[in-house]
Amino acid sequence: MLAQQQLTALKGVGPKQVEKLHKLGLFVVQDLLFHLPLRYQDKTRLTDLESVIIGTEVLIEGDVFAQTLSQGRRSSLLVKIQSPSGTILTLRFFHFHHSQAQQFSRGKTIRVFGEVRSGPTGLEMVHPTYEFITPNAPSALEDSLTPIYPTTEGLGQASILKLIKQAIVLLKQYPLAELLPNDLLDSLQLPLLNDALLTLHQPLATDDLQKIKQFAHPAQQRLIIEELINQQATMQMMREHEQARNAPAFPISQACQRLLKNLPFQLTNAQQRVLQEIQHDLKQPHPMQRLVQGDVGSGKTVIAALAAIQAAEAGYQVAVMAPTEILAEQHRQAFSEWLDPLNIPTAFLNGRMKAAEKRFMLAQIETGTAQVIIGTHALFQEAVTFHKLGLVVIDEQHRFGVHQRLSLHEKNNQQDVHTHQLIMTATPIPRTLAMTAYGDLDLSVIDELPPGRKPIETAVLSNEKRFEVMQHLYAKCKQGIQAYWVCPLIEESELLHAQAAEVTANQFSEQWPDLRVGLIHGRLKGEQKALVMNAFKTHQLDLLVATTVIEVGVNVPNSSLMIIENAERLGLAQLHQLRGRVGRGDKQSHCVLLYQPPLSETGKARLNIMRETTDGFRIAEEDLRIRGPGEILGTKQTGGLQFRIADLKRDSAWIPVAKEWANILVHNYPQLVEGLQMRWVGHKIDYQHA
Ligand code: ADP
Ligand code: MG
Repeated sequence: MLAQQQLTALKGVGPKQVEKLHKLGLFVVQDLLFHLPLRYQDKTRLTDLESVIIGTEVLIEGDVFAQTLSQGRRSSLLVKIQSPSGTILTLRFFHFHHSQAQQFSRGKTIRVFGEVRSGPTGLEMVHPTYEFITPNAPSALEDSLTPIYPTTEGLGQASILKLIKQAIVLLKQYPLAELLPNDLLDSLQLPLLNDALLTLHQPLATDDLQKIKQFAHPAQQRLIIEELINQQATMQMMREHEQARNAPAFPISQACQRLLKNLPFQLTNAQQRVLQEIQHDLKQPHPMQRLVQGDVGSGKTVIAALAAIQAAEAGYQVAVMAPTEILAEQHRQAFSEWLDPLNIPTAFLNGRMKAAEKRFMLAQIETGTAQVIIGTHALFQEAVTFHKLGLVVIDEQHRFGVHQRLSLHEKNNQQDVHTHQLIMTATPIPRTLAMTAYGDLDLSVIDELPPGRKPIETAVLSNEKRFEVMQHLYAKCKQGIQAYWVCPLIEESELLHAQAAEVTANQFSEQWPDLRVGLIHGRLKGEQKALVMNAFKTHQLDLLVATTVIEVGVNVPNSSLMIIENAERLGLAQLHQLRGRVGRGDKQSHCVLLYQPPLSETGKARLNIMRETTDGFRIAEEDLRIRGPGEILGTKQTGGLQFRIADLKRDSAWIPVAKEWANILVHNYPQLVEGLQMRWVGHKIDYQHA
């Protein structure tokens, strides 16, 4: 009922109001009920000024006994009131009318609400709300806590409160359906939905405000778990739906064995285990949906190549997609080195190809002449038609959005047959986050680095040491090592970004003309980038000055020194990615994190974590704790993880519980799942096209 009721059914809502309410994500009356207060004010009791705690919001009564106009840079009105116990509080108004000033006449009793601070002359409240009181007939105190709602421009607190009050009256007439099974609510001791909503909109003075503030009140937890269950159930249904589809089954191939024999190294145990998981999936007549997590340098590329071989040998095509041109180019080289001897034809596609070359590649792809196709986003383009696509490999998936992952999926022109998907990421994702963001995928972890790698040693230094670091770098390069110097984004502008790198490159060249310095940034053309990368790879350059374009996947084993400027501005996950460009050979590698002083306490703590550990999972847990999921998954990725009430950082402990119950709901109460989707997403999920 309330889920269908339009907002215009409420008093005081016209077309203009509706538009503003839409901005807040509110479309029907039920949405208002899920529009929860940001915080609460307690006007249910008077606090004695004597016992007030600085920094809290309180309701206080007192008598006006003085009033002054202070003439500073901006004049302010100071009103002094005295509590019955004799304590004095100064009310400070920066904005006031003269008529307002006249109201505060000596002897009047006043009730004020606001945050108590310690001011220059004792206790003070800035811009409190206030009301004059007739001592013999004081107005009643509020009987529930006052909610403060998120608002938007042109729609004030009072207006939204009025609407929510109306919605609550309606809720009492037409309660919302309870969508969580009783045994769940009982086992977790959580309240019914309607009770929870009433508690949160109109908490009683007896409710535990402290718990509500910490989002630990059962009424909040009940809503959080419901929202998380909905998300988990949706993921699970997507996954089960996909698994019921048909995909070509690829037998284990002979050619895989040949590549393994040709490699100059042996797979690590972790690589072998993950390879077996993939090979097993590819043998099934249903689409593989597997995410391979492996820290930087753990050797994911060769695993992808082995999977590609299995599909190719069965006569199917493979699309290998990389997020940047540098990385796509690097994969092209690695794949052709491995696949050419096996006579598996590869092709390459990027956005900057010349028309003729591109036409040629497209024809190769369409006719099936090319079997393993490596490329960038260009693989998504409408013009690309695959002959017989059987496997899609997506490298460094966190750089793509969910949407892109799926649209490539639809590229297959065989209607009933779906492609296998192998998704790879070097971003270690904390378990609870992986369950949420990738709940529709199977997970493999390469939790071991190839032998002989020495953990990178990391130093954290102030920018005041910049020149010494440059000198050190020069000396090292003269001993034959290669180095990176990374200038991260300082302004949100690709141009300034590139300039910063350019300036640094010039400083090096001017200071040490014999140092072979290369420069790479996002504004270079594709071929230029490839040229520079190649020169660095073949040791025609000693130093590569770069922006964060080198963050992902770049592999030059001989480079063993990395300097990152303005390290305090980057997230830990990103620093970890960048640092992973070194430590890829058998030399001891070093990383210097330069920061711009002064560094805050948390800033210090964060950089120290980088110094203490190279364990990507530990770093990711810290990042989740400090910066939230966006930093780890990338902003594009979190698009699908917008929650209305739940917060992945705060509520991660609930995720395994939600997953368990989602499973029960999906199998025992499918009709409830549909109801949950309607309530939390606003529509049924179309798995066919999800
Ligand atoms: P990432 O997992 O970061 O993508 P890569 O696939 O780029 O790592 O591998 C990093 C380097 O390690 C490459 O030079 C690769 O050839 C090499 N490598 C991969 N597996 C092994 C192994 N088992 N032993 C030794 N070197 C390996
Ligand atoms: Mg890689």
